[in-house]
Amino acid sequence: MRDICIVGGGVAGLAASIFTARAGLDTIVVDGGESILARNASLENYPGFPDGVDARRYLRLVHEQAQGAGVEVELGRVSSVERIEETNPESGFVLETDGGDPLEVRRVIAASWSDSEYLVPLDVGRIQRGSKHYVNVDEDGRTAVEGVYAAGRLAGEPHQTIVAAGHGAKVGLTAIHDSDVNFYHDWVVPEGYFTGRDRDVPPGCEEIDDEERLERDVAARETILEAFAEPLAEKPTMHPSVDRE
Ligand SMILES: Cc1cc2nc3c(=O)[nH]c(=O)nc-3n(C[C@H](O)[C@H](O)[C@H](O)COP(=O)(O)OP(=O)(O)OC[C@H]3O[C@@H](n4cnc5c(N)ncnc54)[C@H](O)[C@@H]3O)c2cc1C
Repeated sequence: MRDICIVGGGVAGLAASIFTARAGLDTIVVDGGESILARNASLENYPGFPDGVDARRYLRLVHEQAQGAGVEVELGRVSSVERIEETNPESGFVLETDGGDPLEVRRVIAASWSDSEYLVPLDVGRIQRGSKHYVNVDEDGRTAVEGVYAAGRLAGEPHQTIVAAGHGAKVGLTAIHDSDVNFYHDWVVPEGYFTGRDRDVPPGCEEIDDEERLERDVAARETILEAFAEPLAEKPTMHPSVDRE
């Protein structure tokens, strides 16, 4: 049984997965299509990109980061989630996907804007606004069903990329705290930051020396330079109801 399945490999889902995988949870993301962000023409309000970034390029980098963190990404739509033993909250969940084998997991993060039909059998609590359903969560992303969380736009967060990413990260941290992983913060700090004060390096944190820091900077620059080297051929996805003839 895996530790966690994140339904939806868009902005919030991938952000959550980076945190859960880096904390050592066996993490799978099941993604049924493409992020709604693929419809954007130029992402210009995501901190860190002063002149904006092509949304497809951004999504590609987030995918690469998640996979580098050890996340497994499976393509397919999740069609249902049920408890393995209905009356046992510890028993975990079984997810049905179209095409793939059923998945057994301890926890589920729903980050699948705009589909939450697969959660109906669990009765997590959904709110309908217009044609869309949102999943009811507490301030940390927990639903009414223990072990099930929701993140991003599906959880009613504002329709902005940085907010979805931040909420995904926060809900990932909630799932980490609810699991039995020993965790303080996901921090990388200079050598001596903790040990120089006679403290152990807290779980989830890492101390690195200057040589390692410079090596990581070389790798980071190579990745970014390569990612931005060529103009992208991909175009934004148009709204399905726009007549392009
Ligand atoms: C045209 C347009 C332009 C935008 N421009 C900007 C902008 O300039 N700046 C900005 O900040 N924000 C922008 N946004 C908003 C931004 O794209 C969203 O707020 C953000 O993508 C929400 O992230 P999310 O993870 O909640 O959803 P998404 O990124 O859409 O991810 C949801 C994922 O879940 C998957 N999924 C759905 N159902 C299932 C299922 N049953 N099983 C498995 N997977 C499933 C989907 O395929 C998708 O990959 C724009 C949105 C649109 C539509």
